[in-house]
Amino acid sequence: MLTPAQAETLIEQHLTCLPIESLPLTQSAGAVLRENIYAERDQPPFDRVAMDGIALSTSGLGTGRLRVIGMQAAGDPPRTLSEPETCIEIMTGAMLPRGCDAVVPVEQIQRVGEFAEIGRRPVQPWQNVHRRGTDCPQGTLLLAAGTRISAPEVAIAASAGMARLRVSAQPMIVVISTGNELVEPGETIEPHQVRRSNAYGITASLRQHGFARIADDHVRDDEAELTERLGFHLRTHDVLILSGGVSMGQLDLVPRVLENLGVSLVFHHIAQRPGKPMWFGVSQSGPAVFALPGNPVSTLVCLSRYVLPALRAAMGQAPASPARIAITAPIDVKAPLAFYMPVTLRSDEWGRTSAEPKPTNGSGDFTALAGTDGFVELPPGPNTFPKGFVAPFYRW
Ligand code: AMP
Ligand code: MG
Repeated sequence: MLTPAQAETLIEQHLTCLPIESLPLTQSAGAVLRENIYAERDQPPFDRVAMDGIALSTSGLGTGRLRVIGMQAAGDPPRTLSEPETCIEIMTGAMLPRGCDAVVPVEQIQRVGEFAEIGRRPVQPWQNVHRRGTDCPQGTLLLAAGTRISAPEVAIAASAGMARLRVSAQPMIVVISTGNELVEPGETIEPHQVRRSNAYGITASLRQHGFARIADDHVRDDEAELTERLGFHLRTHDVLILSGGVSMGQLDLVPRVLENLGVSLVFHHIAQRPGKPMWFGVSQSGPAVFALPGNPVSTLVCLSRYVLPALRAAMGQAPASPARIAITAPIDVKAPLAFYMPVTLRSDEWGRTSAEPKPTNGSGDFTALAGTDGFVELPPGPNTFPKGFVAPFYRW
């Protein structure tokens, strides 16, 4: 049986990169950049005044008393200081006037009529001036393709003059629950039925991670109905995420129906608990199909462990290894399978993060997940991993 790492590699090898679309800058937060962004000009683009005060020439400071010849605000074209015993009132963000080489802040100045007195305080050349090009020269690579765009990247792209950005198109995802027993929240439920909760959890996770084009369906464990609905979704979506119907029961029809519809099996089963029956395949017509086991803990674990990283990779996002975090209590792994333990992150007084295990009553017990941040992946057992053992952490 495949290890989680082997399954992850197989998924990566079978994914195709999503197409590029152009978005207005204001819509681009959360998207993955697919072009490089370079500095439009030197940064700062001119000798930028960094304090409100007076701009002067350090060569004219003999008496510490300078005549104010005018004012220059941010956005004004630069004035010229031609006599060294004079100065110009200046505002933060203005271009340093020609002939000046320093700024004295307003708090250190006494105004006496048309004069500004700064006393004997030494004035260093270029003090309070953010000099042109000292952050980066024109043409510097500011943002590389593959960067996920958040607030700083939007501001940087704006500073580079970009009104639109080339980003990965959002995949069209459909989340499909299978099962005769499932009843919608809000509808009357019989004692022998269960709430359809997985699809809501999956959709919430996808939205939280920036995926917006998500459809939803519920199909009964019926071969004809599954064939008709899955066939439709394969024609209309890029990614299918199913839950349920992939185990060994007589009504676990999903693998057979998918293969009949021309979805080639890449793998079925991973040596892991929970989530062993996970199925993954790729349709000849393009879409990727993640069929997750229906037990709610398995569903969410497989989503975070495999589906979210795969979707990020398909959007061209540069791969990132999971954080590695120490556990705060020993964990017993009995089976010779990789083991996923839900955890809540804690931060100690030194600022170190650790993972507190939150065991569940098996893969059906998702009420134990409330308040957890994700899970750690432990190597196959039998083994007891001690307190302090460092494991990769996956966030929900
Ligand atoms: P299955 O993988 O279809 O054999 O389902 C395993 C268990 O998960 C069963 O107890 C199902 O009732 C439950 N289950 C399947 N799908 C869902 C769902 N969408 N929401 C909640 N529970 C589910
Ligand atoms: Mg089922």
